[in-house]
Amino acid sequence: MSASSPFAIPASGQLILALSKGRIFDDTLPLLAAAGIVVTEDPETSRKLILATNDPNVRVIIVRASDVPTYVQYGAADFGVAGKDVLMEHGGEGLYQPIDLKIAACRMSVAVNAGFDYDSAVRQGARLRVATKFVQTAREHFAAKGVHVDLIKLYGSMELAPLVGLSDAIVDVVSTGNTLRANNLVEVETIMQISSRLIVNQAALKLKRERLQPILDAFERASSAIPSTL
Ligand code: AMP
Repeated sequence: MSASSPFAIPASGQLILALSKGRIFDDTLPLLAAAGIVVTEDPETSRKLILATNDPNVRVIIVRASDVPTYVQYGAADFGVAGKDVLMEHGGEGLYQPIDLKIAACRMSVAVNAGFDYDSAVRQGARLRVATKFVQTAREHFAAKGVHVDLIKLYGSMELAPLVGLSDAIVDVVSTGNTLRANNLVEVETIMQISSRLIVNQAALKLKRERLQPILDAFERASSAIPSTL
């Protein structure tokens, strides 16, 4: 790909920020604005995956939330925003995590069918089937509790699994709890509080520090003004 192609990922000079659509994108816009950066295209209406900003040296790539750490790890993006849930699953290799942005706050919880007595199943040492996208976090959580589980990896709509008998429990992120309530599920354990973090490629931090640092500082100042909901 030639360097003049509008789709080329530049090796230097420019900065690429990786974001996922939805809440993380929306909540990152005010932080970008604090750094004087305005995204000039809307990922909800545009099909483009590389979005321009008012700064010709900064572009935003739109990727799946769980892919943000991978793009940053390999340097295809210089920095990104990812939830703690996603970072725990990724492992954080090759990533520098300077700031808890306190955006997209939620919690990771265990939930079961309303009629299922989770506490006595755990007390009796029952082997539980747990469906989740977050297998690493779930494995560590149940191992620490000494609960035997068979983990079933899903990629979405975890709430469905207990309803149709695929699992006894799910591990999922919960915000208002409305999705659980709508599906007659109850939250029985909170595993951890979640918020989104700024992540930076370790090489980019060294090689592009001059360009990155003012943006990181602006993000830090703007996010420290966000009241913590955790
Ligand atoms: P809620 O009904 O508000 O509890 O939201 C729960 C649904 O939204 C679940 O399907 C979650 O997977 C998703 N969700 C809520 N908050 C977040 C978040 N901060 N990041 C990713 N997914 C979320």
